[in-house]
Amino acid sequence: MLPFTAAEADWIGDARPMMGTEVSVYLWSDDPEAGRLALDEVFEEAARIDRLMSTYRDDSEISKINREAADQPVAAGDELFGLIRRALDISVLTRGAFDVTYDSVGQHYDFRSRQRPDEDTIEAERVNIDYRLVVLDQAAGTVSFAKEGVRINLGGIAKGYVVERGIDILRHRGIENGIVTAGGDSRLLGDRRGRPWMVGIRDPRNEAQVAISVPLADEAISTSGDYERYFDEDGVRYHHIIRPSTGVPASGVHSATVFGPDAVITDALSTSVFVMGVEQGLTLIGNLPDYESIVIDADGKVFYSDGLAPPETQSPD
Ligand code: ADP
Ligand code: MG
Repeated sequence: MLPFTAAEADWIGDARPMMGTEVSVYLWSDDPEAGRLALDEVFEEAARIDRLMSTYRDDSEISKINREAADQPVAAGDELFGLIRRALDISVLTRGAFDVTYDSVGQHYDFRSRQRPDEDTIEAERVNIDYRLVVLDQAAGTVSFAKEGVRINLGGIAKGYVVERGIDILRHRGIENGIVTAGGDSRLLGDRRGRPWMVGIRDPRNEAQVAISVPLADEAISTSGDYERYFDEDGVRYHHIIRPSTGVPASGVHSATVFGPDAVITDALSTSVFVMGVEQGLTLIGNLPDYESIVIDADGKVFYSDGLAPPETQSPD
């Protein structure tokens, strides 16, 4: 009998820059070699999804849709079609706070080079923001746009999809404990071997500081913040979450966190709650029994959805 082998069961992990952010995988494996293979497969899957869904690549399926769908219906693969359909469902649920057509204005921002659209551009492009302009033909598997100028961008939902696919891969490989993260979206597989995972929500104005820690197991959690991609100009923060009704970055909230069973949904809903603001956002989450939310507003005040709120302290009489 060999009591010890060179490679022993342990936590392993890796993080790689991808999709304009970082994708990371962390897992427990009894067999380190099998664990490594699982890690690699998750990164390969993330790269595959990015090739399909990135608007930064001219050769992606989504770029083809953006080029051609105003002229004729464009065949989308099942996977892309399905994710666009889910995005449109969330638009209905959030009355347009989540809207993948935000990109007709969104494309004119470049946060790295501090570029933003002027008012004329916003006015001209704003009329192209409306999820109802995206027409899906389920039977034909095609996407078309009702007018010229419409563009879609899945940046508010694709990372959640990467996370879901990553967790599926780990599960199929027999992994029982792990985390897959893409930018602000994570899903936890199982627990941390007997303890819950402690997931930190950062202080929106201090990168080094955790504002709130939440114990979670077997759940997805997404945070949208105004500190991920932004620049400040004359005291105004221009960031990457656009209010579809105005075409300008949503204000009032510094970060919105949503957790629940599905990372595709938590991803889209964290963006939605950010746009909707504390009151409307938490009302929306209150109507979704499986989802909870924590919002930090522009004064740094923390708000919890009903399912999380501590019971009212009883007055003693
Ligand atoms: P992160 O990218 O930091 O995880 P989010 O999940 O909130 O943050 O996604 C923000 C991204 O969503 C933006 O970079 C953009 O691609 C897209 N987006 C911005 N505004 C909207 C909106 N109103 N509806 C849908 N997607 C949006
Ligand atoms: Mg999101």
